[in-house]
Amino acid sequence: MGGEAILAQVADEVRGCTRCPLAARRTLAVPGEGNLLSDVLLVGEGPGAREDVTGRPFVGPAGELLTELLGAIGWQRADVFITNVVKCRPPGNRDPEPEEAAACAGYLDRQERALDPAVIVTLGRHSLRRYLPGARIGAVHGQLRRSFSGQHVFPMYHPAAALHQASLRETLFRDMRGLPAALIAAREAHGAERSAAVQAEEAKAPVGIPGLAADEAEQMTLF
Ligand code: URA
Ligand code: SF4
Repeated sequence: MGGEAILAQVADEVRGCTRCPLAARRTLAVPGEGNLLSDVLLVGEGPGAREDVTGRPFVGPAGELLTELLGAIGWQRADVFITNVVKCRPPGNRDPEPEEAAACAGYLDRQERALDPAVIVTLGRHSLRRYLPGARIGAVHGQLRRSFSGQHVFPMYHPAAALHQASLRETLFRDMRGLPAALIAAREAHGAERSAAVQAEEAKAPVGIPGLAADEAEQMTLF
């Protein structure tokens, strides 16, 4: 299955999912949306009130600020893929429980594999914890990091935090302005590692001539 088909399949499963207690009180599940070819995956915490009724991520007040933040570097929502750690709204916007995040993790795992983004932008603590469990947001925000599994992660504060604490607004914009350079650095490393992995696969293949089936290569040695 190609990336697009996998993402569609995940979205279908999420919409009907009852794997955790959040299913009972949601209006709509929010699988995520965006550019299927994007190198940038944004991961928030979980749907809020507006997301719950529309089935779309970041479409409320935090979403408006996120759109503004992307605009500050000349990007649009359609340039990135946006999703959340949990796909259903926690009642009253409470934090997701660890069991809920764990029950939902497989969907995000599959979205990550399908998109293969060069950089994952975490929005807020819950998203940060998934990739860098020991990190403190105050220490790592705006800096490109590697997750334990080697993913390039760019942690940011949650846009909703700036709606309550005005001083975070400037920090969010400053961090966002660092994202294009982080993306270039991540792309270079990601590309180099991708081709190293392909070469390693080729080296493991029975013959060293890429694109040639083993028996064809066998025959070539006869001439
Ligand atoms: N906050 C989030 O973390 N995700 C959304 O989709 C909306 C608000
Ligand atoms: Fe399923 Fe995730 Fe929704 Fe829980 S939050 S019901 S695991 S889609």
